[in-house]
Amino acid sequence: MASGTDSESRKLLRRLRDTLAEVGAGQERLDKITHLIADSMRTDVCSIYLFRDSDTLELCATQGLKPEAVHKTRMRIGEGLVGRVARTGRPLNTENAPATRGFRYMPETGEEVFPSFLGLPIQRLGETLGVLVIQCKEARRFSDDEVYALEVVAMVLAEMAELGAFVGEGAALRALHQRAMLYQGTTGQEGAAEGRVWLHEPRVVVTNPVADDPDTEKRRLAEAIDRLRLSVDEMMDRLEPGDNDQREVLQTYRMFANSRSWLRRIETDIESGLSAEAAVEKEQSIARTRMESVPDAYLRERLHDLDDLSNRLLRILSGQGNETGAEMPENPVLVARNIGPAELLEYGRRLKGIVLEDGSVGSHAAIVARAWAIPLVIHAKNITAEALNGDPVMVDGDQAVVHLRPEDSIVSAFRDKIAMMAEAQKRYVSLRDKPAQTKCGRVIELHMNAGLMADLPSLDGSGAEGVGLFRTELQFLIRNRMPRRSELVSIYGRVLDAAGGKRVQFRTLDIGSDKVLPYMKPNDEPNPALGWRAIRVGLDKPGIMRMQLQALIRAANGRPLTVMFPMVAQFEEFKAGRDHVYRELDREAALGHVLPERVEVGTMLETPSLVYAPQQFFEMADFISIGGNDLKQFFFAADRENERVRRRYDTLNSSFLSLVEQIVARCAEAGTPVSFCGEDAGRPIEALCFAAMGLTRLSMRPASIGPVKNLLRRVDLDAAREVIAEARSNGRQSVRQPIMEWLATVPR
Ligand code: PEP
Ligand code: MG
Repeated sequence: MASGTDSESRKLLRRLRDTLAEVGAGQERLDKITHLIADSMRTDVCSIYLFRDSDTLELCATQGLKPEAVHKTRMRIGEGLVGRVARTGRPLNTENAPATRGFRYMPETGEEVFPSFLGLPIQRLGETLGVLVIQCKEARRFSDDEVYALEVVAMVLAEMAELGAFVGEGAALRALHQRAMLYQGTTGQEGAAEGRVWLHEPRVVVTNPVADDPDTEKRRLAEAIDRLRLSVDEMMDRLEPGDNDQREVLQTYRMFANSRSWLRRIETDIESGLSAEAAVEKEQSIARTRMESVPDAYLRERLHDLDDLSNRLLRILSGQGNETGAEMPENPVLVARNIGPAELLEYGRRLKGIVLEDGSVGSHAAIVARAWAIPLVIHAKNITAEALNGDPVMVDGDQAVVHLRPEDSIVSAFRDKIAMMAEAQKRYVSLRDKPAQTKCGRVIELHMNAGLMADLPSLDGSGAEGVGLFRTELQFLIRNRMPRRSELVSIYGRVLDAAGGKRVQFRTLDIGSDKVLPYMKPNDEPNPALGWRAIRVGLDKPGIMRMQLQALIRAANGRPLTVMFPMVAQFEEFKAGRDHVYRELDREAALGHVLPERVEVGTMLETPSLVYAPQQFFEMADFISIGGNDLKQFFFAADRENERVRRRYDTLNSSFLSLVEQIVARCAEAGTPVSFCGEDAGRPIEALCFAAMGLTRLSMRPASIGPVKNLLRRVDLDAAREVIAEARSNGRQSVRQPIMEWLATVPR
């Protein structure tokens, strides 16, 4: 800017604000704004490009380029310099646009005579709404002051866009938060749901992006910061002694709240004419963009903390608390950046679906959603910036797709899908009390996996014959402190009560790897999945395991007790774990507690090494349960949490089926009952192949029992086995396709 003074910048912002106050169409405003900016910044060109759909930008207004190019010139995201700014979310400043990588010549604009180019994203909370460009005839790089001034302007434009200032004719001037949006994420839990958005943290709306008096704004900021610091201190005071993770987050909050450089940046923004809210948001937006490109997970977490803190500050400044007065709609679909398990449990089962921007398949929230069988899509990038409370939304957990404000055609296709699923559900319900008996007369026992009290009603509803895997760690994960033994006695007792005599296989605490207890110091291990986890922790530090075993014995209170250990990799580990059980039984007896009527001690088989354990191991184990999730991860050396590789190897890979077959044979030789309790047991085709390999007991999510039973009742396992054998002898990598082709010939 020829005269890049603060007052010049403030004057411009005030003019921009005045255009917001004027009645008029969006197009008129945009035209006026480009004129004002070019005039104030003494540039030959100012142009505004807005998105007409999720990946096409359109020139919507210009001062200096040919007017006939307006609404004609379009580029895809990443295309040309403007497209590059939109893709990277970062400024592009060059004195020689045609020589800059990615430049694309647009003859209709006449821009070839303006070599200097400065493009900035128009961005709100990390979401790019468009691109603002200034250009000059004179070949020069724009100064830092000019870049900064334009950044502030872009921020105001973003707020104006959010307030609907640019609504007009044509796709690019469509009102925000109205167009249909599609988000491709990752499946957290399968299933389909239709409902209305409920934002876990509603967005703050900044109605006053520009302020007249910087001193007043700075005072407001200082007051808000004081209140923010106070609230962080109060949160600190409320912490319990064990809440170490929480403490760490709050300490980071405190550090940011006292950070001079952060405050200085906000104050500088205020001095250039922004209101306190807009200034906080500007810095938040920059931090969000940075967040996306920071490779270090720890730093990214800290940037997340800063983002949360900015949200708190914005709420204090704007007076828009969590309680916005909005009422939760019917069929609520929770939309959030991320959510902890305790908060999710508070919402309860009334949620129809859940959509998260972050999260991981193994996160605690995902575990809870799965227990409730609520469709969950994670990694729906930027949805919290776009969705409004009450927006219609459809969640397709199978395809990992979220349709926000869907078009009619999508709605009807989606409803057809839901109706078909409901129809199938009816069929499954009618099978509830029937056995999973195959056409060849074999009966496969179907059990369910559980871990939360919320799972228990499913024992009756699903027709499960028992609980094949009770993941005890879930009770530890959803708390923010270590549960006491008495609490565990009561929980396990209620589980056994609910089972009403059906078998429940309790698995001792499986922590480490993806399951980190919020109140335990995480171990910084280079490869946690191969690290100090599960029974390794239990044997090295037996305190918790012993407490858990005591609780189980007391909860059984004379009833049969079944216990198994996670992640056993060799015979000795199993023996040591088993010794603990018998030692605790002796101890409990000595203390006068009633002992279980019968005790079975088994183990999960999750490591390939255990398949080759000595025969004595198989003889000693009262039962074995194949933990396919981990077994597959170690067999194929492919991280189950890593999106890049987790689907790379098919469970129906003939090598994996051969491994399963070998486990079945070794168990049969020793007369040891064996089951399969990984996620794959709940997939009908996989379940069928496991049964064909000789497994007679499968444990799965309750919602999978119906579909699995339905398929098993249709098939002849000998025929399936032949198909598998032939595929293997033909050198097929996976038997999936031959099995599918064969299934197509099996009558319904
Ligand atoms: C498994 O690994 O297959 C299993 C059932 O255990 P988890 O998924 O809890 O690790
Ligand atoms: Mg496991």
